[in-house]
This record gives sequence, C-alpha cells and structure tokens, in this order.
Amino acid sequence: MPDQQQSPDLRQRVDELLASHDPATTEPSEFLGARFDAGLAWVHFPEGKGGLGLSRGRQEEVDALLEEAGAPGPDLGRNSIGLGMAAPTMVAFGTEEMQQRYLRPLFTCTDIWCQLFSEPGAGSDLAAVATRAVPDGDEWVVDGQKVWTSGAHNADFAILVARTDTSVPKHAGLTYFIVDMTDPGIEIRPLRQITGEAEFNEVFLSGVRIHDRNRVGAVGEGWKVATTTLNNERVAIGAGNDREAGQIGLVAERWRRDPSVRTAGNHTELMQWWVETEVTRLAGERLRQGLEAGQPGPESSAMKLAFAHQAQQVTGFALELAPEEGLTYHDWTMVRPEGGSFLGHGPGFRYLRAKGNSIEGGTSEIMRNIVAERVLGLPPEHRPDKGIPFKDVPR
Ligand SMILES: Cc1cc2nc3c(=O)[nH]c(=O)nc-3n(C[C@H](O)[C@H](O)[C@H](O)COP(=O)(O)OP(=O)(O)OC[C@H]3O[C@@H](n4cnc5c(N)ncnc54)[C@H](O)[C@@H]3O)c2cc1C
Repeated sequence: MPDQQQSPDLRQRVDELLASHDPATTEPSEFLGARFDAGLAWVHFPEGKGGLGLSRGRQEEVDALLEEAGAPGPDLGRNSIGLGMAAPTMVAFGTEEMQQRYLRPLFTCTDIWCQLFSEPGAGSDLAAVATRAVPDGDEWVVDGQKVWTSGAHNADFAILVARTDTSVPKHAGLTYFIVDMTDPGIEIRPLRQITGEAEFNEVFLSGVRIHDRNRVGAVGEGWKVATTTLNNERVAIGAGNDREAGQIGLVAERWRRDPSVRTAGNHTELMQWWVETEVTRLAGERLRQGLEAGQPGPESSAMKLAFAHQAQQVTGFALELAPEEGLTYHDWTMVRPEGGSFLGHGPGFRYLRAKGNSIEGGTSEIMRNIVAERVLGLPPEHRPDKGIPFKDVPR
C-alpha cells in the first residue's frame, strides 16, 4: 500500500467522506454519489467530474482506504462498460453537458451502459459497421443491427458506432453516439452462450432518433473515439490489480485447501501458471502506470492476449484438479444475468466462460495483428478495401 504520509490531502478527503456518509448505514448509491462529488471516483478525471485532476496512480490510495473502511465500490460486474469504457471516452471526447449529465449516475450505477459496436458483418473488422445514422434537422435517424451486446437487457444507455458517410473509406465515415436504450425503435433479443446464460443480445435499431447533442466527437471521427474505447476495454478485460485475484487465485486456493488433489506434476504446472499470471498482472500494472502519460496504446493488446490465454489454460487446469466438479454443471436453465462474471458459479462454468475471453474485446488473432504491426513494426496485412469509398466495397 502506498505511503499515506505522502498524500495527506487524499486521506483527509476520504476521512471527510466517511465521516459524512457512514458506509455501514448509507445506501450504496448515495455513498457512491458522495464519493463522486468529493472527486474520489476517478481522481485523474477533472474536478467536478468525479475527479481531482491528479495522476491516475493515486486512485489506488483512495481505493485501499475505502476498502479498509468497508465502503461499497461501484458494481463492476453490472456496469463494466459504463465504468471501464464509456466514462473515459466521454471525458476524452464528450461535451461538458454530456459529462455533467452522464458521469455521476454512471458511477453510482444508477445508469447501466452497454456497447453497440459489433454487427453480423463487423466484429474483428469493426470499421465495417453498416448501421446507418442519417441527419434529420438536429437529430440523427439510426437503422441497423448490432450483435453480441453484453447486458443490453439491463442497460439504460449505450455507446454506438454508426456510419454517417458511405462516400469515404470505411474508417472516415463513422460517428460515435450515446443512445437511450428505452427510446422507441430499439428491440433487444437474447443470445444464449456456451455457459447457458444469455449475457448478451442482438439489438435491432429501426428509425431510432438521437439528438445531435448526444454525438461524441466530430462527425466522421467515430473511429478515433472508438479506438479510445477499445483500448480502455482491453485494459479493463485484462489482468486485475491484485495478486491471485482471478482464476489462478481460485486454483491456488483449492490446492492449499485440499491435499488430495496434489501431485508432483500438477504442482509444477500450477507454479508455471502462477508465475505467468503474475507476470501478466505486473505488465498490466506497468501499462496502467503508463496510462498516466495518455490514453492506453496498442500494448494493451498484448496484455489482453496473455490474459485470455492464461484464463483458458488455468480454468482447464482447474478441471483437471477436480474433474468430478467440472462434470457437474450447476444449471442449464437460461438465465439473463445482471452482470458478466468470469469467476461465478463453479469450475465448469468458469471453463466455459473463459472461451469468450479470446473473442470479446477483439479476438486473439486480431490482438496478434495489432502487436505485430503497431508494437513490433512488422509489415501490415493486405487490406483490399483500403482507400476505397465504403459504398464501393463489395459486401
Ligand atoms: C462474451 C462476449 C461479449 C461481447 N460483448 C460485446 C459487447 O458488449 N458489445 C459489442 O459490440 N461486441 C461484443 N462482443 C463481440 C466481440 O467484440 C466480437 O465477437 C469480436 O470482435 C469478433 O468479431 P466476430 O465475432 O464478428 O468474428 P469475425 O470478425 O467474423 O472473426 C471470425 C474469426 O476470424 C478471425 N479473423 C477475422 N479477421 C482476421 C484477420 N484480419 N486476421 C486474422 N484472423 C482474423 C477472428 O479472429 C475469428 O477467429 C462480445 C463477444 C463475446 C464473446
């Protein structure tokens, strides 16, 4: 934990918050609202927007003090897209009015967010989205279909990438919007996953009207805005902050608790995964510290790639340690979960859910392409649609 002697002001602010809002008796969303108002939500955000304009690394001090006091934190499982992606994007590109309207209820999790990016023909190639937004006075009229939208069934708002110009190459004709998910013309249908849960959805948009004040960034600059969201997503999906916080912690705990699962062979394997997980966690920590110099860069792809690989290997290893538990799946009833969970239920669930880690937030193949081209500087892939107006690309 950082030396609090160096941060008297933050400690004082936390103490004042705790004195005015006792976490034991204050309703969680009220506590979180007071935390936002005190600038302790994201200390690196500007003042008046949940932050204090400090360096990002100092958030850790606040989180540790609040955790020690038993204070509630925002619900990352329910609102990971709002907290991890919409908020930093809005701070980087949103208008003052937008930031005032959306950030506080997002942090208190009064408003839940989802991400309307992927389409049937635009997943890895996200710049190929075909959902159209056509201007009509001071509004935009949106028509199209999105897919794999996690949590759309619980969401109040969405971030959306839509095509506003087909006469220019694919990356240049996109615009980024905020959508009210209760607006007329939005239809949400569940999609069931390998786990049995329907965590994500198809979303159909028919004549949905979005006011121009809910445009994030300039018309035609949606790709630049979306890239910020995606880089933040990769950091959010990647390794956690704490040692043994994820899949490896569950396996290590099992190993310690139950001598009957131990063999010399699987001990060596456990050590190997423990070390690799720790290296990824520390790389993630370095990346987070690097964020202080700006938005996350393409290196976040390397961490996401390593995280997905380890999650799949370690959940497989967990099944080998306790095969009988892996075979007894808890329930195949279709559930519409409140939030995404990588760790919930049992080893069988975790093994199946980890399959999605190498797809969500960009597939591992795409992460390798990004690392190869943008980190290592290797020759780029052949891109036959480069420079061609979107309307002339065969589809
Ligand atoms: C659990 C989960 C949650 C998700 N949540 C959301 C969400 O909330 N919002 C949202 O918008 N999206 C979401 N997604 C969608 C996700 O971002 C896409 O599935 C992903 O980007 C891949 O796109 P695709 O499914 O269209 O596959 P495709 O792009 O069709 O790819 C198919 C295969 O081809 C490979 N491939 C494609 N192009 C290349 C290339 N150039 N080089 C090498 N290999 C290539 C891919 O890696 C993949 O293996 C979610 C996905 C999952 C699994």
